[in-house]
Amino acid sequence: MKYFSHQNVTSAKEGVSCAKDCNGKASFIAGGTDLLGILKDNLLPTYPEKLINLKTIEALAGVENLDGVVRIGALTKLSALERDLEITRNFPALASAAASVATPEIRNAATLGGNLCQDTRCWYYRYPNHMGGRMDCPRKGSGPCHAVLGDNRYHSVVDGKRCFAPCPSDTAVALAALGATVEVLGIEGAKNLPIEEIYSPMGTVLKAEEILTHIDIPAPPPESIQGFKKFTVRKPIDFAIVSIAAKVNITNGIVDGANIFFGAVAPQPYRDEAVESALIGEKFDTKSIAKAAGQALVKAKPLSMNAYKIDIARTLTVELLESFII
Ligand SMILES: Cc1cc2nc3c(=O)[nH]c(=O)nc-3n(C[C@H](O)[C@H](O)[C@H](O)COP(=O)(O)OP(=O)(O)OC[C@H]3O[C@@H](n4cnc5c(N)ncnc54)[C@H](O)[C@@H]3O)c2cc1C
Ligand code: SF4
Repeated sequence: MKYFSHQNVTSAKEGVSCAKDCNGKASFIAGGTDLLGILKDNLLPTYPEKLINLKTIEALAGVENLDGVVRIGALTKLSALERDLEITRNFPALASAAASVATPEIRNAATLGGNLCQDTRCWYYRYPNHMGGRMDCPRKGSGPCHAVLGDNRYHSVVDGKRCFAPCPSDTAVALAALGATVEVLGIEGAKNLPIEEIYSPMGTVLKAEEILTHIDIPAPPPESIQGFKKFTVRKPIDFAIVSIAAKVNITNGIVDGANIFFGAVAPQPYRDEAVESALIGEKFDTKSIAKAAGQALVKAKPLSMNAYKIDIARTLTVELLESFII
């Protein structure tokens, strides 16, 4: 690993100003479970000269119940989320997504903000520099996308553009289904975005000096049911091949609201409006679920080796939604 300096900051404002002073030559570090591996393998187009440590910002760790909204600090550990009573009671989809990440050791270090901002797992991008040379690609600033003609079995089936790496974050999928927004602090101040809008095909839209400070989730309606499910190759520790998070409102047996998001199929948590509209207005039973599941990823344009993800998405839809039938 190359040399870098390390600076603790005690507020998000100080972190932003410190990053600004570094003119793009600094990276933020939270739990370090993603970033340190990336630095060790020398993957980034420019190696940071300084790491700005966000873990020393105490105000950004923890779960707070505000009026009608639960606010989660970006520095909250994934292990805290899977155990927090507010989260397990009111947002089981998020608790389940957090618990599905990696190992207990990693979840004890990894933060929610880091999970949302983690870099792509594309195996071409992650190919270590020291093993035969750098694999450049559009995401690193130059060269072709190796996934287009190469082995793209784990890549996006929808919404890819120049880069076909899917968003690897499990918590992002659950948060999207729960209607969460994030607050991002930058030089010009704070802005709020729906969680799925922080992603683009080339990674997050955050600028080098912007810090994701917290995540707000609106309280779910009492009649809603929610959940998260993920299909992996290696159980129990693996990234999703496909995941699904759903929040469904049912009144008198009829669906009157549905948020259905798939993970690991697109650069962002993918909202499947075709499944949502197939459910809304229907009696919530195995028949309507099977019909809606058949609509999953109808807009997909798979690459040469990943059309199988569509079948997995449809099976996961049936499995998750049928588990909601009481
Ligand atoms: C073996 C293994 C298995 C894994 N399996 C899964 C899995 O199944 N599902 C899954 O979702 N993830 C998985 N991960 C990824 C893991 O969840 C992430 O490494 C972790 O969540 C990153 O959090 P961190 O706090 O350590 O972030 P760091 O490594 O510190 O940072 C990651 C990136 O986010 C940026 N960043 C961090 N916090 C902020 C912030 N508040 N504002 C702006 N930028 C920020 C950093 O600059 C860096 O670019 C796995 C990782 C490993 C090593
Ligand atoms: S999918 Fe994205 S990260 Fe992977 S090789 Fe193509 S451009 Fe690079």
